[in-house]
Amino acid sequence: MDVDIYEIFNYIKDNSDNKQELADNMNSLIMSTDRSKFSMQLNKLWDEYCTSYGICVCCGERMIAIEEKEPMEYFGFPTNEIITYQVCPNCG
Ligand SMILES: [Zn+2]
Repeated sequence: MDVDIYEIFNYIKDNSDNKQELADNMNSLIMSTDRSKFSMQLNKLWDEYCTSYGICVCCGERMIAIEEKEPMEYFGFPTNEIITYQVCPNCG
């Protein structure tokens, strides 16, 4: 039997009550099918979904943008580079 990865992905998405449950369901399925092609495809879909919606892959929480000044040197002069990165309020 051929498994339709998108069907499964959508099924989990539609049948999870909240974002935490969605993340738990995805991750437990990804872990339980360790290193199989199915697991890697599902992992990729979940990663892409989280990236496009800006949510954490571990817990499904919305990521927040943190700006940090990184001291740099530019042709011998000290300067600051602003680095923006996404962090999860739950997972850090
Ligand atoms: Zn998280």
